[in-house]
Amino acid sequence: MFQIAIDGPSGAGKSTIAKALAAKLSCVYVDTGAMYRTIGLYAARHDIDPGDASKVADCLKDIKLDIKYKDGTQRMLLCGEDVTDLIRTQKISMYASKVSAIPQVREFLMNLQRDFAKENNVVMDGRDIGTVIFPNATVKIFLTSSAEARAKRRFLELAEKGEDVDYEIILAQTLERDNNDLTRAVAPAIAARDAVILDNSELDIKQTLDAVNRIVNDKIKDI
Ligand code: C5P
Repeated sequence: MFQIAIDGPSGAGKSTIAKALAAKLSCVYVDTGAMYRTIGLYAARHDIDPGDASKVADCLKDIKLDIKYKDGTQRMLLCGEDVTDLIRTQKISMYASKVSAIPQVREFLMNLQRDFAKENNVVMDGRDIGTVIFPNATVKIFLTSSAEARAKRRFLELAEKGEDVDYEIILAQTLERDNNDLTRAVAPAIAARDAVILDNSELDIKQTLDAVNRIVNDKIKDI
């Protein structure tokens, strides 16, 4: 059984890389950011301030999160409703960033995330997979790039989807999310001491994937 942890800041391309890697290795891909986003969506829908730790913690008992795989892609279910396409907006990104600082939220999701690896080989992406969720992960990669490169990618992705976006606002929000992730008391988004750090500011997706494959092959000789 193996676990491959891919951590790093938002917009570094973790999910694209993790998805491709999981397909190549025929194992399960888990996007943990989608879980935080789903809790963010719940808070937004119920007019709960995502920074109000006790209110958010209180609503966890009403939240049933499930992950299903449809045609090989991860779908997020919130109390049975498929919300996969609703959690990708910039508003929900900011909600997810805030709720992720709440210790009860992290604990709630930690159990769910660990459960996946009980019976499956996994590639899991997030912020604390190599530090907290699987401190003994087989491979740990910290994928990062400059805030400008990440904001530019995010801007193009949202514009392509028809969202009305402004690059400067996306850059400011990228920096704000980085700051939230880095400064929170619980599970800050830092590289594990034994992670391989890969900066892909100057790499395209294919080059990033080639670099990731080399790191993985080096660590797991027989898969
Ligand atoms: O990766 P993604 O941008 O979808 O994650 C949404 C938010 O969830 C991030 O801004 C981050 O604050 C949080 N997150 C986290 N720990 C993870 C995955 C995501 O704190 N393992």
